[in-house]
Amino acid sequence: MNAIRHDFRSDTVTKPSAGMRAAMAAAEVGDDVFGDDPTVNRLEQRIAGMLGKDAALFVPSGTMSNLLALMSHCGRGDEYIAGQKAHLYVNEAGGAAVLGSIQPQPIGHQADGTMALADIEAAIKPDDAHYARTRVICLENTFGGRVIPMDYMRAVADIARRHDLGLHLDGARAFNATTVLGMDIAAFTAPFDSVSICLSKGLGAPVGSVLIGRRNLIDTARRHRKMLGGGLRQSGLLAAAGLYALDNNVARLADDHRRARQLAEGLSRHAALTVTAPDTNILWVDAHADIAEAFDTYLAEQGIAVIGRYGQQRWVTHIDITDDDVSGALALVDRFFERR
Ligand SMILES: *Cc1c(COP(=O)(O)O)cnc(C)c1O
Repeated sequence: MNAIRHDFRSDTVTKPSAGMRAAMAAAEVGDDVFGDDPTVNRLEQRIAGMLGKDAALFVPSGTMSNLLALMSHCGRGDEYIAGQKAHLYVNEAGGAAVLGSIQPQPIGHQADGTMALADIEAAIKPDDAHYARTRVICLENTFGGRVIPMDYMRAVADIARRHDLGLHLDGARAFNATTVLGMDIAAFTAPFDSVSICLSKGLGAPVGSVLIGRRNLIDTARRHRKMLGGGLRQSGLLAAAGLYALDNNVARLADDHRRARQLAEGLSRHAALTVTAPDTNILWVDAHADIAEAFDTYLAEQGIAVIGRYGQQRWVTHIDITDDDVSGALALVDRFFERR
């Protein structure tokens, strides 16, 4: 691969802006394991307040945040229900099983990305010594960049309530969803007992996620965070970036979504590319088998970085992708097809 000129791999590749770095440098800090870091405390109170929930916990990553949620909802030998392609089931190295002794109950997805309500209900185990105890249902929104409708989330919440189960939201990109739905984050997350949100994706912070929820869950998660080695000390330096992101980088997510649509329009002009219209900042592109390998090679040569090879690609817009990146990348793609 040549030097990357247009980095569409992920919204995790963003670098802190000058303003964000200034906020980090100026942050008041203390020892957060003692509860003494005023900036971490401010971030936790701020996000808990935004969601209208009791408490929040600043953690190093979304992976740790989801793991802490599962370890707080479940004990050894308990079970969580999640989609077969849910990030916390597929992409987190089996942490809940390895570190929490928590069994997954994965469920297949329907064409729209949701799990069928009847499938969820059927997977909940009766109280019987043969079975693991089902404790929590996990949803993800956005899911592969797709916005899952609010009505669906409320219907799953009804199931959870009827069966006395917890409900967790992997809302790594929750603000991308609320941007599209035009909803307040508190209303969006209201059905959930716990919510994980990444500060280091579209919001542009270098590090960090937050787990938000009921007081007793967050207290348990704080103990588990220490156990997992996630108790950080003067982490106000990082929390300051998160606060800056909440102040400055939420409203602008609409720009990422607009640029993803522009990319989709430009790419879909080529018959060999099948482009799924993006809801948010993630675009899925299928290249016809005849050109897939040549197209991958060409993009790499031109410094256009995407994730995926031989057919399916993921293009992600983010705070460091400008209008010029979009038009520049589209012009280079046009040239690939003109030459053939
Ligand atoms: C990125 C992501 C996570 C995990 O976040 P990391 O900070 O990379 O550990 C969890 N869930 C979803 C849906 C994500 O996209």
